[in-house]
Amino acid sequence: MIKKRLLPTSLARRFNFLMVLFSVLGVLLVAILSYYEHIIEARSDARSIAVDRSLTILDAMETAASRESISRFIFSIAAQRSVESIALVDAGGRVMLASKRRWQNADVSVLDDVIDEQWLAKPAGEELSVYWDERKTQAVVVAPIEPVNPASSVIRSLQGGRLMFALDARSHIASATREALFDAFWASSILVVMMLLVSRALHRQVARPLNKLCEQAHNPDNTSVSNERVPVGQVRELKALAVAISELAEARAALGTEKQRLKDIADSIPGAVYEYRHHPVGDDEFLYFSDGIQQLVDLDAETIRSEDPARIGASVWSLIVPADHEKLEQATQAANYPWPSEWQAEYRVQVSDGIRWIWGHAMPVADDQPGQLFRGVMLDITDRKELEQRLQQAATHDPLTGALNRAGIEPHLESSLAGAQRRSQPMSIVLLDIDYFKNVNDSFGHALGDSVLVQLVNTLKRRLRKADSLARWGGEEFLVLLPDTDPKGAFQLADALRQAVEQATFEHRQSLTISLGTATANAGDSLKSLVRRADDNLYAAKHAGRNQVMGLIEKPESMES
Ligand code: GH3
Ligand code: MG
Ligand code: MG
Repeated sequence: MIKKRLLPTSLARRFNFLMVLFSVLGVLLVAILSYYEHIIEARSDARSIAVDRSLTILDAMETAASRESISRFIFSIAAQRSVESIALVDAGGRVMLASKRRWQNADVSVLDDVIDEQWLAKPAGEELSVYWDERKTQAVVVAPIEPVNPASSVIRSLQGGRLMFALDARSHIASATREALFDAFWASSILVVMMLLVSRALHRQVARPLNKLCEQAHNPDNTSVSNERVPVGQVRELKALAVAISELAEARAALGTEKQRLKDIADSIPGAVYEYRHHPVGDDEFLYFSDGIQQLVDLDAETIRSEDPARIGASVWSLIVPADHEKLEQATQAANYPWPSEWQAEYRVQVSDGIRWIWGHAMPVADDQPGQLFRGVMLDITDRKELEQRLQQAATHDPLTGALNRAGIEPHLESSLAGAQRRSQPMSIVLLDIDYFKNVNDSFGHALGDSVLVQLVNTLKRRLRKADSLARWGGEEFLVLLPDTDPKGAFQLADALRQAVEQATFEHRQSLTISLGTATANAGDSLKSLVRRADDNLYAAKHAGRNQVMGLIEKPESMES
């Protein structure tokens, strides 16, 4: 079975995705914060340094005795690596003194490669201002020169001018960036480790238990999954879910066992259990057959493999002896109309080793589907049928000669007599009795007498027509039923029988004769009156000397001589 990880897979993926996303965002945030913290600090440091230096220069200028001493002082400061440039601008906007010689005595606008014009254009007398030049990474201070008690005239001449001081802050920024990266690295490392720990905990506590639970829910019959104690972690809802799934699995297993038990019962009872729906229009639809159907009607392997009730139903129908089809259709009619009732029929199926008798019995079952549902059973009744046939044979046939006995021929006599009377057609019988049979028994024994009786029956049967029936009426007395036979025909056939016996050779090698009496049915005859007349004629034949036929008509002339 395919492992289905419906919820947990996507959940685990989402966890992973979120963890990575949060980690990346966290690292970025940490990096940005750390960067800005250090950079802002570095800038502010640079600005403070620039302001300090500027104030130092302004202080120094107060006490400077000459232009040279100021110049030296400025150059000594400008020599420092972090100092970009220094310029002293008088009130008229001329550069009086600068760290770069080319600026000397130039207009203040010459400083525009260091400082924006807006700063240079600041009117004299304004307060000290610090400017951060992002492009050149420098802090620029523009401070008014307002000596309180200048020591020299040079300084006085600068009264109302400005000091421009530019601090190269690249090294500040570079070291701040390094520090920022260092801090960001550690903070990010801690963050990633924490994220990993959280992710692992979520996997253990949520995703993995959910995986297991899903697997168990999808494969409740998989004992390797369900027997294993599902690690559900500490999440209360998951524990509850695990219990619910276990209970569900147990209930399902119990249901499966019960279903299997019912199937086993259905499959193990003799015969087959089946279910079908009778549709008023179209074929009946088979819905279920228990396994017993295979043996009951010897289904072919392909049909069994299909496990398709409709196909099995069609196969069973094809095996039913065609002569029984109508009987089954009548049973279906009777079971469905005018209202649903039990379906019952005995029918034959052609199996590999002959004919098998089946008894089908189904009861209508109410449901809300169209058509009428039936559930029933099919049983093999071949043995019962054979027994019935044997009993029937024994009840209607003489065991010694195999000819019909009185009980066997009487229904034929009755129906033949009724038919003849209804159709006004002739119908005759012959009663015959062996002459002096006692002597045969007395002289040759009863056993030989028996075999003479058997021989006699065979001799008589050979002379009879297909439609005629012979029965042992009692002792050594026999009755022959001759349908559609008039008195003359009956007489002729009786005499033919007499002659056949007279001419036959029997086991005891002695001549054997029979006496016969015929009777032809009249309109008002009963079976009893008909037989009585034949018996009277038989008696007359005996009386007249035996080995002859007596009927109600005169002997035909041709037979008189
Ligand atoms: P009849 O010409 O007057 O008929 O003389 P019969 O000796 O044949 O006299 P009846 O018909 O009265 O005698 C019948 C005898 O047939 C008596 C009985 O022993 C014998 N019999 C009847 N049934 C059987 C049988 O099943 N087997 C044998 N061996 N003999 C039988
Ligand atoms: Mg006799
Ligand atoms: Mg007799």
